[in-house]
Amino acid sequence: MALKHQRLRRQLIDTCRRMNGLGINQGTSGNASLRIDGGFLITPSGIPYDDMRPEQIVEMDLDGRYHGDFLPSSEWRFHYDIMCKREDAGAVVHTHANFCTTLACLGRGIPSFHYMVAVAGGPDIRCAPYATFGTQELSDHALKALKDRKACLLANHGMICLGPDLEKTLRLAVEVETLASQYWRALQVGEPKLLPKREMTRVLARFASYGKQSVDASDAAAVEPPKKARPKRRSGGK
Ligand code: 13P
Ligand code: ZN
Repeated sequence: MALKHQRLRRQLIDTCRRMNGLGINQGTSGNASLRIDGGFLITPSGIPYDDMRPEQIVEMDLDGRYHGDFLPSSEWRFHYDIMCKREDAGAVVHTHANFCTTLACLGRGIPSFHYMVAVAGGPDIRCAPYATFGTQELSDHALKALKDRKACLLANHGMICLGPDLEKTLRLAVEVETLASQYWRALQVGEPKLLPKREMTRVLARFASYGKQSVDASDAAAVEPPKKARPKRRSGGK
């Protein structure tokens, strides 16, 4: 029988290879999933991405059953829970990115030290409490930390990102790792100044239209030309 979802399976493998190539993951750590009708495709457990073949990608349904001869990622529980509970998730990427993991080993999330933190959907990126990899407990913690967010850190472990598709989710993962590295660097020198909540709310509102090239009237403030500076009246005799 012909293998279903060939293109999507390849896309999943390609994403994982890029994840390692971009330096936001290493070895067989990490995993990724992609929503399909009635379920999702997920990377198999413990197979190096360079050796991974399309037929080894595992199909899972929304009852938590997997199909085929290969075992799904040991983290299928949080992929499954995200796919069931987050309609906005078309794809999930989990990595052991160095700086995210460093902060997560300190039990620290990423606070509003930079306006770009809002890229993950809120004023901060939370760190979920530690639980053993592959457990339902870890999934429960992760889903809580992901509430109203598209990314979270996992204590003593790594990070998770979700998004509408694999490309955007991978891009978010790179962004979150960049923020983690900047926050970590700032912490080496002192205590970074945090942006207040009202500023993050403002940034979040601007993000709603940022990057969309067709701007409607409600976004006019974002593209309004600067008011012409009034020439200053000269005083004195000249
Ligand atoms: P899998 O190879 O089973 O996906 O495990 C990797 C991992 O990151 C576990 O947390
Ligand atoms: Zn992991």
